[in-house]
Amino acid sequence: MAHLEGLGFVADGLDRGSYRREDPVEVGRLRALGDARAVVIARDMPVLRSGAKELDSLVPIAEVEALGGTQVEALLGFAPGGAPIFAALLKDEAVEQRSDSSDGFLDRRVLVVPGRDDLKLIDLRSIAVGGLLPPDQTTMLAAAKALMHWHAHHRFCSNCGAATDVAVAGWRRDCPVCKATHFPRTDPVVIMLAVDGDACVLGRQPRFPKNMYSALAGFVEPGETLEAAVRREIWEEAGVVCDAVRYFASQPWPFPASLMIGCFAQAAGRSIKVDKVELEDARWFTRDEVVAMLERRHTAGLAAPVPIAIAHHLLKRWAYDEVEFD
Ligand SMILES: [Zn+2]
Repeated sequence: MAHLEGLGFVADGLDRGSYRREDPVEVGRLRALGDARAVVIARDMPVLRSGAKELDSLVPIAEVEALGGTQVEALLGFAPGGAPIFAALLKDEAVEQRSDSSDGFLDRRVLVVPGRDDLKLIDLRSIAVGGLLPPDQTTMLAAAKALMHWHAHHRFCSNCGAATDVAVAGWRRDCPVCKATHFPRTDPVVIMLAVDGDACVLGRQPRFPKNMYSALAGFVEPGETLEAAVRREIWEEAGVVCDAVRYFASQPWPFPASLMIGCFAQAAGRSIKVDKVELEDARWFTRDEVVAMLERRHTAGLAAPVPIAIAHHLLKRWAYDEVEFD
């Protein structure tokens, strides 16, 4: 696991206790406990308490009422020791947007809770990259953000259009009209490093930070295996034919609700033809070049993704170890 050090959103500090979601009376009892706390999200952004020294993502659930109440709550699980942890989505009007210089890659909205200087809204990517919270809290925030994003965007039944009700402690929405049940989505994305001997394929999307190259990625489509999705994406984006595919590791990626599935693919040759609609550039990189990018000493200033992202770890595994295909 040493090679996955720093990978974001994978620290497993919570017992989800999914069997305890079904009974609303029990969930209400848990919510009323003195040690019940909430991970708070407002307009897709975590709300943190800023103490004298450090930030904290856990707010006593009783304090959430003072912020104007919530749109949706969900029982996320139980902290070590048994304290219930909820996710809470504040009403949109609880926060004010002061500015927005988001660039399609980074969320740069400046949001505040009026009159509450003790609360700070910080986008999750900045929290993870900056290590602003312990990894277990960052993972809880990722789960809360993805789940609350789903609620915020799925208020109506996709079958009949009626407003739906939150059910099963925030893990389902039920339609009171047609009785359809709706479950939170996680969208599988394959992210893969195509390799051939001493070289691998990296590309960059126009929205990436300047000089960053990363592994290619794309959504898995209905009816598709992970292996087929890997081969299709590399072929469509870079014109590289691959045969063997092997799984590496996965990572929740709550922007807004993906599961990144990291794979290696054995390229059948080094020809490349870049899809300039999807990518600004893609090319073969040598192992030495990738090592320089990981170590931030590339002579042209090119850089690999940050360690919170699984692409960093795909590159690291390939650059420093062997990747074998059976
Ligand atoms: Zn319906």
